[in-house]
Amino acid sequence: MSDTDIDLDELERRYAQERDKRLRSDGMAQYEPLGKRFAALARDPHADPDFKRAPIEEDGEVLIIGGGFAGLLAGARLREQGVDAIRIIEKGADFGGTWYWNRYPGAACDVESTVYLPMLEELGHVPTERYPRGSEIQAYCGRIAERYDLRRAALFQTLARKLRWDAGRARWIVETDRGDRIAARFVISCTGLLSNPKLPRIPGIETFAGHAFHTSRWDYAYTGGDESGGLTGLADKVVGIIGTGSTGVQVIPHLAAWAKHLYVFQRTPASVEVRANRPLTDDDFAGLEPGWQRQRRDNFTTLTGGGYAPVDLVGDSWTDIIRSVMPRLENGEPVADVEAIRRAEMRKAEGVRQRVAATVRDPETAEALKPWFHYFCKRPCFHDEYLESFNRPNVTLVDTQGKGVERFTPAGAVVAGTEYPLDCLVLATGFDFLVDYCEEAGLEIVGDGGVDLSDRWADGPLTLHGMQTHGFPNFFMMAIAQAGAAVNYVHTADEQTQTIAQIIAETRERGATRVEPSLAAETAWVETIVEGAKARRAFLESCTPGYYSYEGRRERKAALNDFYAGGPMAYIEHLRDWRDAGGFPGLDWT
Ligand code: NDP
Repeated sequence: MSDTDIDLDELERRYAQERDKRLRSDGMAQYEPLGKRFAALARDPHADPDFKRAPIEEDGEVLIIGGGFAGLLAGARLREQGVDAIRIIEKGADFGGTWYWNRYPGAACDVESTVYLPMLEELGHVPTERYPRGSEIQAYCGRIAERYDLRRAALFQTLARKLRWDAGRARWIVETDRGDRIAARFVISCTGLLSNPKLPRIPGIETFAGHAFHTSRWDYAYTGGDESGGLTGLADKVVGIIGTGSTGVQVIPHLAAWAKHLYVFQRTPASVEVRANRPLTDDDFAGLEPGWQRQRRDNFTTLTGGGYAPVDLVGDSWTDIIRSVMPRLENGEPVADVEAIRRAEMRKAEGVRQRVAATVRDPETAEALKPWFHYFCKRPCFHDEYLESFNRPNVTLVDTQGKGVERFTPAGAVVAGTEYPLDCLVLATGFDFLVDYCEEAGLEIVGDGGVDLSDRWADGPLTLHGMQTHGFPNFFMMAIAQAGAAVNYVHTADEQTQTIAQIIAETRERGATRVEPSLAAETAWVETIVEGAKARRAFLESCTPGYYSYEGRRERKAALNDFYAGGPMAYIEHLRDWRDAGGFPGLDWT
């Protein structure tokens, strides 16, 4: 398609119209957490419910909360710094974080394995596929744990509840739901992004009498099969699914293949591009020089963060658009051509719609599956069987015209006055994202002078680099608010943990008892973030709602949840420079 075929103004009008259809006055309040009213749905299907152990009391060096990639990388980097007394507290019954919980059929990573999986060179690991499956990623988490001897540090099926800074002892005192009382000089909170599942508050949903579960708690005892499919338990079941985001897109082809009938209740169509997965062979790694992974990850993060790089080393659907919108160099400096970017982005979105038209046979269904929003408004999806699923006779797309399911009855879902009786309801409705740090982490954090972090952050987070906060000495967070938001969070986490491990090593070397950011350094960083975020905020306000835009209404506690405006690679380079500068300017040691 040539650029002149696209009427940009007309397209903008259509996007605005579709957005208006979806805007709701309840914003984030349209969701509720998995626990509370729906405690049964929060049950861990992978853990022994009768697991018991005696509470422990100990005094250690570093306590890490969370055993996903962030926690594992923190542990690995600390081991490299010679720290032995590490304790890891993890809610699940094993390592893996996201990949422990999300074991739904089709679970896989959209980011190339050579870029996503950290420490490939350190571990000498060769991934089997270009886009790794969830089970392979979880197994790889176990390999990192073994390589860095972190399994003996872990307390699984345990939730940290309260952290209190004891200034007299210069220790954090950490209490857990199993009655543990652990003192630690340093705490690193790695409780994850997108880790608290959310449910839609649809009227009557609590009366639904069929079977229901969230995708992050997949019930294989009911569906049969495993991550690769074989859901034989659904052969005589009418299944409904709510959610057509990255998770829904991966699950739907499997439900379509096995359910007697599948109803897909769609609110906003996903943007679904080519995936082109394939096995990796030795040829993919032949001739790579040491340091190749760092180079490849830097390249991917630069390009997907809108930066300039002379080559595209990954060359997939993620980087495809970037090649056409890449800033050009003028006198050695990258200069963005705003109009060219606008056109390339529109062209990309048009290509996505054409793919729908070329794949889905029923014209009405195809029309309903076309996304009408700016390409960068929502996380893009990549799949080669999703659209095909709608050609099956046992699959019905129920397009809710941006409104979602109207209500539930004991028998099923109601949309536009029609009731769809269901045996099973799958909720692919996503996760909390950067709303309130303490609430999401499930932690009460009391710092110096008895100050509660929730109170200090009542109007939004205050941090240096998104990782430390004044008045909470020796406390580190692995987060993306006020940090770099990369498509590949594990890359950011890798650089953050290297920085934290180095700060801890330096604190020990100096013989200091506490380290924290100065108020001045923190204030300056927050100002940098807020000032730089203006353009992105304005863009998100023009977007169709979703978790990126706080469903179109940002709450007070999330007020300062913005990202480093220079982009994720500039943030990573900033951390590298800070590490290399010596002395970590902006930190106070006592
Ligand atoms: P999302 O938040 O992206 O999607 C939730 C879906 O539920 C949306 O389609 C949303 O519709 C829909 N929904 C919510 N409430 C209702 C309602 N009342 N009626 C109808 N539909 C409703 O969650 P996901 O779990 O899909 O993905 C979350 C993130 O996790 C991704 O963005 C990605 O970052 C990560 N992820 C990555 C994967 C990968 O690498 N392959 C795989 C899975 C997840 P609407 O759009 O209208 O709000």
